Amino acid sequence: MADSLGQKWKNREFNLSSVSNLSSDASSASPGIARFTSDGLQIQSESQQIPLNFDLQTAQIFKLGSVQSVCIMEGSDVSKTASYSTGVTIQFKNEEECEAFHSAVQQWIKEVNVQAGNLPNGTLATSKSKFDEKIEPSSAKMYFHYYGQLLHQQNMLQDYVRTGTYYAAVMENRADFTGRVVVDVGAGSGILSLFAAQAGAKHVYAVEASEMAEYARKLIAGNPKLAQRITVIKGRVEDVELPEKADILISEPMGTLLVNERMLESYVIARDRFLTPTGKMFPGVGRIHMAPFTDEYLFIEIANKALFWQQQNYYGVDLTPLHGTAFQGYFSQPVVDAFDPRLLIAPPMFHVLDFTKMKEEELYEIDIPLRFIASVGTRVHGLACWFDVLFNGSTVQRWLTTAPGSPTTHWYQLRCVLSQPIYVMAGQEITGRLHLIAHNAQSYTIYLTLSAKMWGPGAEQGGILQTSSCKLDLKEPYYRMSQPQAYPLAQDQQPQPLVQTQDIHIQNQELEEPEILQQPSPNSCAQIDSLIQNI
Ligand code: SAH
Repeated sequence: MADSLGQKWKNREFNLSSVSNLSSDASSASPGIARFTSDGLQIQSESQQIPLNFDLQTAQIFKLGSVQSVCIMEGSDVSKTASYSTGVTIQFKNEEECEAFHSAVQQWIKEVNVQAGNLPNGTLATSKSKFDEKIEPSSAKMYFHYYGQLLHQQNMLQDYVRTGTYYAAVMENRADFTGRVVVDVGAGSGILSLFAAQAGAKHVYAVEASEMAEYARKLIAGNPKLAQRITVIKGRVEDVELPEKADILISEPMGTLLVNERMLESYVIARDRFLTPTGKMFPGVGRIHMAPFTDEYLFIEIANKALFWQQQNYYGVDLTPLHGTAFQGYFSQPVVDAFDPRLLIAPPMFHVLDFTKMKEEELYEIDIPLRFIASVGTRVHGLACWFDVLFNGSTVQRWLTTAPGSPTTHWYQLRCVLSQPIYVMAGQEITGRLHLIAHNAQSYTIYLTLSAKMWGPGAEQGGILQTSSCKLDLKEPYYRMSQPQAYPLAQDQQPQPLVQTQDIHIQNQELEEPEILQQPSPNSCAQIDSLIQNI
């Protein structure tokens, strides 16, 4: 065992109010100590000179009650023909001590396995069923059914910003692929495996859980020069076994707001299971970017969806009892569309996810404190979010960005709209919190709060003037791409390059022209104006 582990567990002791041998009567009980060592668990009772040593890999430890447990180990006396188990009943001072002892046992086993390399990061033992533990079976079924269909793979392949950036990142960094073992995490059609093989990979394992694995086999077989270096493995990365470790992982696990679909967790599990300690990940880092925005049209559009429920005589029925519920329902949908970056009212900030280092559990809850300085005086309607990922190649660093103003991708951007907008002045500080909590339908509940501090003479008292919060389900977005809107500049709003050019510079010039926002018809603005007057 590695020294670091021995040091860590040294002196981890629990005082026991009694220790008694299972084979002797209860009167032999006496107080004692349970001590964790680098070899396992040692139980010493005051009445016995020789401590009992339990190998925690094989010993069985059960709770008998809230403060009582039993530890049993197989007999190992080789001189005897029959071997008998040895065991002790141990009594703790209180429930907390008993709980702490049992979690220490679990922790010890996990850490020893990680050190021994048996269960990289403790994932193999738990990850076998990890996907099923976390994810509702009906969600997983629909998810893999979706990706099993060629049309959805085609949709991703036809996102030329996405696929072209992956292609460029691989080809510009051949050195990271040539002669290397590659694992394609969630291979889909197998496109990234084929790119890796084109870049000279020694062998590529294309792991895909959906029925798409069959089509990937067919596609790869149809490219015989590359096919001999690609093996398609049908199954989840959490479950499949591979014959060798990988030098590099390639994957496209990003969903809306980067984290939707919860596939980043599978990517991180794949890292722990398949990647050599010095291996690379393509991409290796992701960033969620955020900025407050103003968009009166969008706000009115959402608010108006619930107007239907304000009718008092719908075939003689008063619908108003459901208006509040419908209103909240529409504001709980994050809006997915491409918007003009001039709608941002403060320079964006970002939150980094380092796929090469982070623990899978860190993706269960993501808590981002927000702070912005408003560039203009306006109504703030919510928070706009987008993401980028980095291919940190040894030759070229390349970002794939989904920023507003950059060529549109199939992820577009995401906006969380507040049902209660807040007012800010230019230069005013906006604070808040974006709190994402993963749920078992492969997505997240989003909790957003934005506040604007008091302005002017009262500001020193530090009071919050306005706070607005909302709760949204990332799984149920409102796809608004089909209804592009006009974004005329407000008179007091100067066009500002709020999105850093570093966020938007990544383009492959050879790629097809990106989609551009359709110009809205002039009367769509007139319609919106009349809606504003109606509200
Ligand atoms: N790599 C392809 C497909 C990306 S979409 C491309 O870039 O075009 C993500 C794919 O990962 C889907 O096909 C999905 O079925 C697969 N996937 C998601 N989670 C997975 C998991 N845990 N194990 C294996 N495949 C998974």
